[in-house]
Amino acid sequence: MTWPANSAKRTEDAAAGIEVSEEFEPFAQRDDIFSRAMWDDTVRSPRTDAFFASYRIEAAPRRGDGFTQRDFALRNAAWLISDIMTDRHAAQGRREGFQATLSADTPVSPDRVPVDDPARMAAEVKRTARFFGAQLCGITDFDRRWLYSARVDTRDMSDAPHDLPEGLTNVIVLGHEMDADLVATYPSALAGAATGKAYSHEAAVVLQLAAYIRNLGYQAVASMNDTALVIPYAVKAGLGEYARNQLVITPQLGPRLRFSKIFTDLPLSHDVPKPLGVAAFCDICTKCADACPVAALPFGPPSTDRPNRSAIKGVRKWTSDAEKCFGFWAKLASDCAICLRVCPFNRDYTRWTARVWRRLALSRFRRVALWLSRDHGARVKPQNWWAG
Ligand code: SF4
Ligand code: SF4
Repeated sequence: MTWPANSAKRTEDAAAGIEVSEEFEPFAQRDDIFSRAMWDDTVRSPRTDAFFASYRIEAAPRRGDGFTQRDFALRNAAWLISDIMTDRHAAQGRREGFQATLSADTPVSPDRVPVDDPARMAAEVKRTARFFGAQLCGITDFDRRWLYSARVDTRDMSDAPHDLPEGLTNVIVLGHEMDADLVATYPSALAGAATGKAYSHEAAVVLQLAAYIRNLGYQAVASMNDTALVIPYAVKAGLGEYARNQLVITPQLGPRLRFSKIFTDLPLSHDVPKPLGVAAFCDICTKCADACPVAALPFGPPSTDRPNRSAIKGVRKWTSDAEKCFGFWAKLASDCAICLRVCPFNRDYTRWTARVWRRLALSRFRRVALWLSRDHGARVKPQNWWAG
């Protein structure tokens, strides 16, 4: 599937800093590194199997500070609600939230509330998203390029259809904060509690917001990491800018958040991309790439290079080597986000000093901001988190 050079999408992409070439192909979810670790023997190993098993406490290893039983106990407890979502339709091959959308427990109301003003409806959706606990909410169009070409049936890891309803027009993107004190302890199993808590929290928020929309009489499909790449939607919805560490950097939380999404036909006005100046900062900064223990992050400018099949074809961007990255996760028996921890944008923006730094970083004085960040993001010992 290629996109003609004169595609209307080109103009929108330019505003979002997205560069798609003629080689573009939608990404197959079967090729994401977590799916490959379930079927591809070049990725799968006893160590990757042990990584997945460690999310059950009886199989969690014990290896000193940050990897003790209490660290794994907290991490695995933090994942609990997400795990319940993931497991509830596993017998049908639907690993929901990661390899399939979250099944709706609420039918679409037969009485449809009329929407005369999509801008007002968008404001109401954002109000409701905040009420349920999302920190950020943006809205963009349902650009099908970012849909996975197929989802994965986890019974045999084969391609399966998405089963999305017809007529979807919009994507609501929600941002969910990760705990700053836990993130400061990466790499550790303890820090993985920040990831698990964010996923468990987002599962509840995205399902509740989707239920609200379905009660209004419109389609709403709740989605976490499944079904589509969320980053292009988050950027197009004006929530932030893509960075070298493969994350979206937002003005409110920097890179310290996760995203979920809802596909809907509710009439909504769209947000617009808001380039901040993050890419210009990443051009002069390599702190994440320097800190990566397995050299999985790129130096130099964005490119269309694909280190392996776990990278999308035909998009010019900074792309990690997912095989190296996940290899390190497997070694830890937990997720790693060192590249998030050390990022100078990972700050508490409720503090005025952080807001002044951000202003500097997004201005032509970015080199001063980088110099001021030379000792930023040092690791906190996990035992100090427990003592605190
Ligand atoms: S998550 Fe860890 S291993 Fe992966 S790219 Fe970031 S620093 Fe490297
Ligand atoms: S550490 Fe530096 S290069 Fe990496 S994402 Fe953050 S600002 Fe960009």
